[in-house]
Formats: sequence, C-alpha cells, structure tokens
Amino acid sequence: MSSIDGLIVHARARPRNTTPGLPPQPSLRTAILTCMDARIDPVSLFGLGPGDAHVLRNAGARATPDVMRSLALSQAILGTREVLVLGHTGCGLFARTEAELSEAIRSKSGHRPNMELGCFHDLDEAIDETVRTLRRCPFLAHRDRISGYVYDLDAGSVRPANVVEYRAVGATRGRPMTGLEMLRADVLDLKTHPPRRR
Ligand code: ZN
Repeated sequence: MSSIDGLIVHARARPRNTTPGLPPQPSLRTAILTCMDARIDPVSLFGLGPGDAHVLRNAGARATPDVMRSLALSQAILGTREVLVLGHTGCGLFARTEAELSEAIRSKSGHRPNMELGCFHDLDEAIDETVRTLRRCPFLAHRDRISGYVYDLDAGSVRPANVVEYRAVGATRGRPMTGLEMLRADVLDLKTHPPRRR
C-alpha cells in the first residue's frame, strides 16, 4: 500500500465531522502563509477549526505569484483582511544558494528549473521581505495588517520577525483585538481574552 492509499483509507474510516452551513468566508478574516515543512501544524499551533482561516503553504513561506493570486482572491472574494506570514527555523531553503537548489532539481529530474527557488541566508530578513512584497502587491485590498513571525521548531515558540512587530502587539492594548492579533496573542501568550481554542 502506498502512502496515498493509506491516507485515503484513513480519510474514509474517520468519523464524518461535517460542518453543514459553514460559510466559505474564514471567520477570523485572516490568511496564514507558512512553509510546507511537515513539522509545522498550523491547525494545532493556532488552534484553528474548520472555517477559521485560509492557510497557504509553499517551500519557505515565500511570496510567490501563486501566493499573491490566492491572497488577492482570498481578500476580494472571501473577505479576509489580514495576513500572517510564518517562517520557521530549520527551513530547507535556509543557507543554500539558488545554484545549489537548481542543481539538486536538475540532477534528480534531468531538467534545470528556470524559476526562482527562494533560498535565503537570514530568516528574519526573508520573512520581512515576504511581508514587504505582499504589502506592495496592488491586487491585495487590505495591506495594512500583514505581519511576519518566526516559529522556532526546537523551542515550539513563536516570535515576531525582527522586533518591531513585538512592540505593535503591546500598542494594541485597550481596543478590541483583530483576528490576526488574537492569533498572535494566542501563540505569544499575551492574550487578555479567554482562549478561543475549541
Ligand atoms: Zn521551511
């Protein structure tokens, strides 16, 4: 049995937890962009349930054209207003070169890719670059609440990418939290509200 066969067997055997009537618009009005790394579980990390948020994943949590396509549609059609970019320690794109990654693909597939592969040498800077790219994307209707965070896989902790955003969380006290701020507060343990995990 292949892995896919096993996954399908599991999907068919599991309890059918349907969510009738759940609207397609994410209730937190938030999209999360993170890496495809299998060690990241956004559902448990952020306490997400069905219908809560859009979760986009790719190698390195980079602002690729398809990410911008998806976020543009997420905001225009499905009402999201905030974007959380979550990079992580131990990323496979860290401390590699484009040439090295390109050669790895060529040697395995026989074809050299003509696309940017998104390697980086500074995790915080890479996340910041993704945030800046999204903030410049003219197809996003809401660009004022796009924030970058680092997930430390060894520590299990989440912190803002660079320190500026950390101050921003403190500055929001005294007014109702946005969906993104609630997610931030959950993972940073700064919340002043009851946990929303179910
Ligand atoms: Zn990664």
